[in-house]
Amino acid sequence: MPTNTLTPQQQQRIDARLDALGFLTELGQAFTDAGHELSVVGGPVRDAVLDRPVNDWDFATTATPEQIERIAGPWTDASWDMGREFGTIGIRHGRHELEITTYRSDDYDAGSRKPTVRFGDTLDTDLSRRDFAVNAMAIRLPSREFVDLFGGLDDLAARRLRTPVAPEVSFSDDPLRMMRAARFAAQLNFTVAPEVRHAMTSMASRLDIVSAERMRIELDKTLLAAHPVVGLRLLVDTGLAGQMLPELPALILERDEHHRHKDVYEHSLIVLEQAIALEERLDPRPDLVVRLAALLHDIGKPKTRRFQDGGTVTFHHHDVVGAKLARKRLRALRYSNEVVDQVCTLVELHLRFHGYGSGEWTDSAVRRYVRDAGDQLERLHILTRADCTTRNQRKAARLQRTYDELEARIAVLAEAEELSAIRPDLDGMQIMEILQIEPGREVGEAYRFLLDLRMDRGPLGEAQATEALKAWFAAR
Ligand code: ATP
Ligand code: MG
Repeated sequence: MPTNTLTPQQQQRIDARLDALGFLTELGQAFTDAGHELSVVGGPVRDAVLDRPVNDWDFATTATPEQIERIAGPWTDASWDMGREFGTIGIRHGRHELEITTYRSDDYDAGSRKPTVRFGDTLDTDLSRRDFAVNAMAIRLPSREFVDLFGGLDDLAARRLRTPVAPEVSFSDDPLRMMRAARFAAQLNFTVAPEVRHAMTSMASRLDIVSAERMRIELDKTLLAAHPVVGLRLLVDTGLAGQMLPELPALILERDEHHRHKDVYEHSLIVLEQAIALEERLDPRPDLVVRLAALLHDIGKPKTRRFQDGGTVTFHHHDVVGAKLARKRLRALRYSNEVVDQVCTLVELHLRFHGYGSGEWTDSAVRRYVRDAGDQLERLHILTRADCTTRNQRKAARLQRTYDELEARIAVLAEAEELSAIRPDLDGMQIMEILQIEPGREVGEAYRFLLDLRMDRGPLGEAQATEALKAWFAAR
């Protein structure tokens, strides 16, 4: 028997959040007075029950976009069209932003890339076409009647994802929902119900009708989630990753008995988790670029693997090859040029540190490392440190110490170079003009005096430096 009733504690959480948006009761009343229905739906209901922060406030209504605008007018400081053809109007009330969408009915033409929108008449139908039962709960306004037709509460308790209708039907309507399953699994640390996993596996190839942009958005949300590895494993195990990120399952290299090497796939997932643990060095975080780079850093390995006599295996130039593969894939997924360049820089440089040995680099090699990393240096530090997955504690500790030392050398060089870039407040020409002297020894002495002054007292500005210069010259 489904529960379908909130515990007093869950009810309290929902009430507290609705109370915090006090005008919602009036807004709900206004819709009712106009002969319409208004409900909070989806994400905010789910997140209130789970006691997670609410991302955005979504509502569903019988009203059309024009009617929404008219009825919500008195509570609207600003409004925008989220796409009128999708029936969504965004409104701002003070610091609160709401999205109100007209009820929908089955609005997908199987086989087409773009959903075609048909408005529906009932909340029940609207909820039944949502992706997962945990996202298909609603709270009617102003009554605060809780609606859970598909066992969403039970699923939240069991930490699982099920579809309101048969998963095959749901995923036929919109194959992107299979990626959304992985995304919510990663965000909520949920599992997918067996029949959902089964449908994802048998229907993975249907993803081919989904646009790259929609897939990328879900991939990003999966990567930026609290448990990306949960979502990524699901994408790989069901074959979905093979559709949109085939380089990832390709990392599962068959290991033969004679040529032992680490499982590159498992290694990459550990590197991702270790990079996430080091993300506190970055602001803002979570950081998509470092997560993409950690996941993809070894994607050049399958292509470059060579078995050698004597049972060793090599992956020569997998950094360069990997950067090329990453560029191609990230472009296909329509990432911005900036993200593509940053991830590829990191993939290409992830091995450089291995030439550092136990500190053999010259200062110029250290400088080149810094220069080539450019503005990705901090992320490169994270990636390189995360890329150590040896179980040998002593080896891991040694690598970490060596990298500490490299970072210290970078800091020392940076400071020295900043100092060497310091110039006095006046240049040689100005000195000669102010003191009315010809080029020669005295100019050099004056220059060194000004440089000392600059080092002692920081920048003085032209006027003060001129004063000081004149005083120094007169006292000689
Ligand atoms: P988030 O916290 O990331 O915003 P969310 O649950 O609000 O999570 P959205 O992508 O914003 O997720 O979608 C809002 C709601 O719309 C979902 O909760 C779900 O009910 C429904 N929804 C969104 N996309 C789909 C889809 N492709 N198929 C079916 N229902 C969907
Ligand atoms: Mg949302």
